[in-house]
Amino acid sequence: MRFFSKMASEITPYVAGEQPKDKRYVKLNTNENPYPPSPEVEKVLRAYQSENLRLYPRPNADGLRVEIARAEGVDEDCVFCGNGSDEVLALCFPAFFDADGSPACFAEFTYSFYEVFAQFFSIPFVKVPLKEDFYLDLDAMKNTDCKGYFIANPNAPTSVGIPRETVKEFCLSVPDKLVVADEAYMDFYGQSCVPLTAELDNLLVVKTFSKSYSLAGMRCGYAIGNPSLIDALFRMKDCFNSYPVDAVCQAVASAAIADREYHDRTVALVVSERERVRRELLALGFTVPESGANFLFAGRGKRGGEEIYRELKEAGVLVRFWNKPFLSDFVRITIGTPTENDVLLENLKRILSKE
Ligand SMILES: *Cc1c(COP(=O)(O)O)cnc(C)c1O
Repeated sequence: MRFFSKMASEITPYVAGEQPKDKRYVKLNTNENPYPPSPEVEKVLRAYQSENLRLYPRPNADGLRVEIARAEGVDEDCVFCGNGSDEVLALCFPAFFDADGSPACFAEFTYSFYEVFAQFFSIPFVKVPLKEDFYLDLDAMKNTDCKGYFIANPNAPTSVGIPRETVKEFCLSVPDKLVVADEAYMDFYGQSCVPLTAELDNLLVVKTFSKSYSLAGMRCGYAIGNPSLIDALFRMKDCFNSYPVDAVCQAVASAAIADREYHDRTVALVVSERERVRRELLALGFTVPESGANFLFAGRGKRGGEEIYRELKEAGVLVRFWNKPFLSDFVRITIGTPTENDVLLENLKRILSKE
């Protein structure tokens, strides 16, 4: 502590979901994909020439940008790549907000990294409560005095998604404010706002390879928006780390995004399991908002979130729990394979039937 800056001693860092190694868990706590990455990824890794690693990677990940642009139907100069979408979201704060300027606005219960990033970059922020039905309150956000917004769509951890048309109306209603749409889970909902970025110069969409592409271990994310927004991100990247996306990652992510067939097939498997598990949880008496993500937000049942979390963990099933007002009534459950989901459901039934 003696040498800590004020920031290092005072900030509350983001807390990632646990990755315990004490035993093998049915791991439904960090929204990882239960299926392996595309077989094309395996091929790239097996054929990878370690000789390539002697050289620095392409600083702007240009080859990967071309593949992303092709898959997303945009121009290459509308794409920015980073070390996970967390890094891309982080760079948005210094790129678009000022310490002595108008605040960044986001929901009270959303991806908790936004608040950490704002504090890290000394950017003022305002939080807007969610609506009763777990949705973002876009009307309240629209009327909030701020420079721009971070919108997780679908929202984490409440899982609900907002249709593309609604986001479009929102962006049009705040033409002088920036809207950063964090679409980490969008492929499980199918309402991406990427197609709107060509017409809306205040919309930046951020996506990741971690969830729907099963590449959380690879650390790759990207932003899509008009070239001037992308330019601001490049300027910030080159003030911090010129090579955030390593050479292996560039090759792997390019292969993954080119294999749309595999991606769409595994996403469909997760979505169909999500609907099955949700029906079962509703039947067990939980409140479970309709999910557009690869997880469910379940709670207000016969047992509190903490008890469910603890009992499941004892039985070898990990889910996510937050000991905070509102959130503590719920757990967040990642959708696993059908077998993993069955283990979850059997254990929940057992826990709920205990007197
Ligand atoms: C998982 C997640 C991300 C970050 O993913 P990366 O692994 O850093 O790409 C960003 N936003 C939300 C809402 C997430 O849940």
